[in-house]
Amino acid sequence: MATKKDYYEVLGVSKDATQEEIKKAYRTLAKKYHPDVSTDPNATEKFAEIQVAYDCLSDPDKRANYDRFGTEDMNGFAGGAGGASGFGFEDIFSSIFGGMGGSSRQKNGPRRGRDIQTEITITFEEAAFGVEKSINVTKMDTCSKCNGLGAASKNDISTCSRCNGRGTVVTQQNTFLGTIRSENTCPECGGTGKKIKTKCPECGGAGRTRKNKTLNVKVPAGIADDQTIRLSGEGEAGINGGGSGDLLIRVNVKKHEIFERDENNILLDLPITFSQAALGANIDVRTLYGMVSLKVPAGIQSGTKLKLSGKGIDNKINGRKGDQIVKVIVITPTNLTTKQKEIFNELSGTDETKNNNLFDKIKKFFKQK
Ligand SMILES: [Zn+2]
Ligand SMILES: [Zn+2]
Repeated sequence: MATKKDYYEVLGVSKDATQEEIKKAYRTLAKKYHPDVSTDPNATEKFAEIQVAYDCLSDPDKRANYDRFGTEDMNGFAGGAGGASGFGFEDIFSSIFGGMGGSSRQKNGPRRGRDIQTEITITFEEAAFGVEKSINVTKMDTCSKCNGLGAASKNDISTCSRCNGRGTVVTQQNTFLGTIRSENTCPECGGTGKKIKTKCPECGGAGRTRKNKTLNVKVPAGIADDQTIRLSGEGEAGINGGGSGDLLIRVNVKKHEIFERDENNILLDLPITFSQAALGANIDVRTLYGMVSLKVPAGIQSGTKLKLSGKGIDNKINGRKGDQIVKVIVITPTNLTTKQKEIFNELSGTDETKNNNLFDKIKKFFKQK
């Protein structure tokens, strides 16, 4: 049942077929593709397809939803897997041939609400320190008028007399295959096992209404780009007493203008001048916690990494704290003035620099010019 076929096509009837025509088409096809008698190699699959199509089109409410939204299930049309995927082949089989397939499940019994997925975008700093964001979700929520009961009042609910609250009814049919004992969803209560005298005017008996809700989300300090926060129970409300789904919030973290992140460490490239590299310097460096003085030792090479301990991310998710790693980038001077050139020439000729590899390299470079 991976691919969803058009139910009318499956039964070979037109969109305006009467219930009688649908029933007739179903009977003919069910006989033809019954796995016990059919020689068609795909009989099992086709038989299941026919059941699903019939299950939907034979129910006026489901059929109306299917015609309107392309799925029988109001729950499904908000996007995501809907339709007949709520139950598998096994369930169909066991509901038709109750007993053969083992336990039969009420497909209209309690069903958990769907999970909802959404996303938020936060800044680099917000990810580092944590933030509280309010987000807006539209979802099927428990009806506030009836509290999910679907009835105008508690007194309007009674146990279904047809199925005695079981939600299913057993019928025995004498067919060409012999007696088939089948267990079907109770047509009286639609599988809920309950009867509602007066339906809730707000939700029409569904127990849920579409609502717009604003939620506050606590984003923990240390969250990384693409991580997901799960708010349990904040998804769509369940059906017939089933639990609520969850709300999954994917977090996008914006890039920072100068910082990069490596787990809990903050990486920063620090451009310094040629003389700062040669002579050493104390340089004020930007960190998440403000400016911090960094001691650059004399004679540092471009690409050397210096550590500012504890200036990384204080990650509240894994309880670890990172450092800030400063990579020194020496900017080689260009467009030297005559005076500067004289100084460099002088530098390259001094005895002091003769034994220094770095200055030898520089000397060679200048000679080539
Ligand atoms: Zn019933
Ligand atoms: Zn209601």
